[in-house]
Amino acid sequence: MIYDNHNRPITYLRLAVTDRCNLRCFYCMPEEGIKYLPKHQVLSYEEMERLVRILAQLGVQKVRITGGEPFVRAGLMPFLHRLAALDGLTDLSLTTNGVLTAPHVADMAALGVRSVNLSLDTLDRERFRKITRRDELPAVLKTLDALLKSGIQTKINAVVMDGQNIEDLIPLTELTRHLPVDVRFIEEMPFNGEGSHYPVLNWTHQRIIREIREHFPNIEKLPDPPFSTSSNYQIPGHQGTIGVIAAFSRTFCGTCNRIRLTAQGTLKTCLYDNGVLDVRAMLRTGATDEELTAAFLQAFAHRPRNGFEAENQRATVTESMATIGG
Ligand code: SAM
Ligand code: SF4
Repeated sequence: MIYDNHNRPITYLRLAVTDRCNLRCFYCMPEEGIKYLPKHQVLSYEEMERLVRILAQLGVQKVRITGGEPFVRAGLMPFLHRLAALDGLTDLSLTTNGVLTAPHVADMAALGVRSVNLSLDTLDRERFRKITRRDELPAVLKTLDALLKSGIQTKINAVVMDGQNIEDLIPLTELTRHLPVDVRFIEEMPFNGEGSHYPVLNWTHQRIIREIREHFPNIEKLPDPPFSTSSNYQIPGHQGTIGVIAAFSRTFCGTCNRIRLTAQGTLKTCLYDNGVLDVRAMLRTGATDEELTAAFLQAFAHRPRNGFEAENQRATVTESMATIGG
């Protein structure tokens, strides 16, 4: 196991397999004028598999596939099969918007995908269309249904946005009554490719839970698992749970065990940093496994203490969450 310079183990990789997406969520991407990476600048599956193998040897046990939308990249399922066979990985998970996912759920369950985070900010078709700028709610609900039937642990990610989906807080919470689903409400971060929409964050993690508590006064706090980014709750008698992720307030950095590889092969050791290592350049100039290992260890030894320190070390955040690898 490798520990960083703040004594936090590095055990979790979030791997963005593409920066492309079939939705245009307004908190993530501008509606038009997105400059996607040319294909040759995106890591190949072979390059990604090599990096995951090296990182697994260094102690990474969990890999979450993300993007962009993972399922818009051709060949995703064969890649997942190869990752599932790697030594050392105990948890292969995915984050998806669910538009193209349903037909692959049975295969994912068969190869042992541990959990899927499904992004679903609203249960209302018109609000969904407004937020994502596409009319795809029925396809996403089909994926939710398939996931729940498959036995794969299913989490719903809902970004909480002032003036957009506040009326969905309670209906989404209600889903936990009869479904074994973890609904996680996420503070909006300024990663929409254009800078922040709001001068201040109105819907903080405290306010989100206050609002839910008003409707469910008996909601109970659950113990949070180690390295959890969410603060977890349950309403007595409900099958599922509620989580609140202080993504902008950054209350969880002290136990952060995660690193990111963007689709273009940049290593990020904090969500808020500007990229700390150009891994693609190393791969494509013939670096050996030993040289890559040494570069990773060097980066882990210089992690910022928290997201505020990382943000202070760079110019204003302008990139999209789809580029960062959410
Ligand atoms: N396309 C996939 C999806 O939407 O699930 C995976 C990539 S997406 C960038 C990963 C997660 O980041 C999604 O749950 C999305 O809601 C979240 N996200 C994107 N932009 C965000 C922002 N500005 N603030 C908070 N969460 C954001
Ligand atoms: Fe696409 Fe996911 Fe970003 Fe929405 S949040 S635009 S689905 S990458």
